[in-house]
Amino acid sequence: MSDAIKVGFVPLASAARGILIVFCDDALKVGPATAKALGGAAELVKRAAAAASFKGKTGAALDILAPEGLKAERLIVIGTGKASSLKGNDFLKFGGVAAGKLKAGTAAMTIMAELTAGAMTSEQAVAIASGLRLRAYKFDRYKTKKKDGEEGALRADVSLAVGDAAAAKRAFVSAGAVVDGVIIARDLVNEPPNVLFPEEFARRAGLLRKLGVKIEVLDVKAMQKLGMGALLGVGQGSARPSRTVIMRWDGAKKGEAPVAFVGKGVCFDTGGISIKPAGSMEDMKGDMGGAACVVGLMHALAARKAKANVVGAIGLVENMPDGNAQRPGDIVTSMSGQTIEIINTDAEGRLVLADVLWYVAKKTKPKFMVDLATLTGAIVVALGTDHAGMFSNNDELAERLHAAGIESGEKVWRLPLGPEYDKLIDSQFADMKNTGGRHGGSITAAQFLQRFVDGTPWAHLDIAGTAMGVPKTDINQSWGSGYGVRLLDRLVADHYERK
Ligand code: MN
Ligand code: ZN
Repeated sequence: MSDAIKVGFVPLASAARGILIVFCDDALKVGPATAKALGGAAELVKRAAAAASFKGKTGAALDILAPEGLKAERLIVIGTGKASSLKGNDFLKFGGVAAGKLKAGTAAMTIMAELTAGAMTSEQAVAIASGLRLRAYKFDRYKTKKKDGEEGALRADVSLAVGDAAAAKRAFVSAGAVVDGVIIARDLVNEPPNVLFPEEFARRAGLLRKLGVKIEVLDVKAMQKLGMGALLGVGQGSARPSRTVIMRWDGAKKGEAPVAFVGKGVCFDTGGISIKPAGSMEDMKGDMGGAACVVGLMHALAARKAKANVVGAIGLVENMPDGNAQRPGDIVTSMSGQTIEIINTDAEGRLVLADVLWYVAKKTKPKFMVDLATLTGAIVVALGTDHAGMFSNNDELAERLHAAGIESGEKVWRLPLGPEYDKLIDSQFADMKNTGGRHGGSITAAQFLQRFVDGTPWAHLDIAGTAMGVPKTDINQSWGSGYGVRLLDRLVADHYERK
């Protein structure tokens, strides 16, 4: 994966070239190598800080052009706040803040990866470079003309000055794989729906083969044979045939049970016969954010050669109104044998996931399954865009996801499941119906999914509020956020990899 940010590693003591980027704490103190690099310009920094009311708060930046006494054409001082309260995620943010100060076309820069007390760890230093790349990402491949201020992506040649260049270089390979995974997920979410439909999505997932991921694509015939009537019912109104893609990364011992990630991939959701209103319907090209995350995650894990066996599975459909579309009142039979009365054809994501979850539970016998889906508008009402909704039948898995969310900054918030909610999806004509009414809409959607996990430890992440259209942040300026890749990579790295 190539992008416009090149990163090299040099020792902290080496001479800086290009724009100089340094860090100070909330007492405006810098580390020893930084002090040396600043030399006589330290006084200038003090005066500029006072003039700009810069107090070294975490993520604040002081930008000095043509700094006197320095060779650098520009000096950017980034505040770290109190070093003791820094989290891993803050270093990503520092990289994002730095990238935010730079214009497209920028050439060389040196980043002094040093805190007041001394060199940052390799992971911290490398996170700065990752943040830079995440912030610089732009999806502009369909713009044939660029207006002023839209010059395209930032180009940078970064020298990261670190304590241990060899260790940082190694850490950068893994961290870079994860950034590439996020960028793949963002690209998929941002692509227009006339370009990215189920077959094309499956083709792109197939590109993971070159990293050693095994790919199996189930076409309509194969899914009919398996009895995946819930998924196929959703896609039957579309001219674009449905697909399910199973990806396998075997990084651990043969025979060790895999961990599994399942994504909703509704490439476009009109709502079907229960058609959505026209306003913002274009956003429904992002209704495959769960599947995008799973593909990005599989890339990250395979590219960094994660020592875990991992299954990624995505159900890819287009939900269209048509003479052949499914109707409210239809009853479909899922792969599990359970029957579902369709009440609202716009509650289609759970129908897709029902068959893919069942398939994964039965065919791969995973340690756990985590599914991601832009599933309900109700979760956006409940949690906004800062947390994904989490539902789980397993406290250990839920706690691990919660912790990984805090570490990665991709946060989750657990909501309840229970028999009182479950009975809301009982149907008078079939085993269940596909909606439980307006109240607790995210919860009844999760109850529906739980009927297809076959007792497997499982968590469902409702990412309708976090996968796309989120407010811009220091590390994301894109409509498609790539949410979930860093969260789940963290989960695997922290708990499911042979050390
Ligand atoms: Mn829908
Ligand atoms: Zn949907």
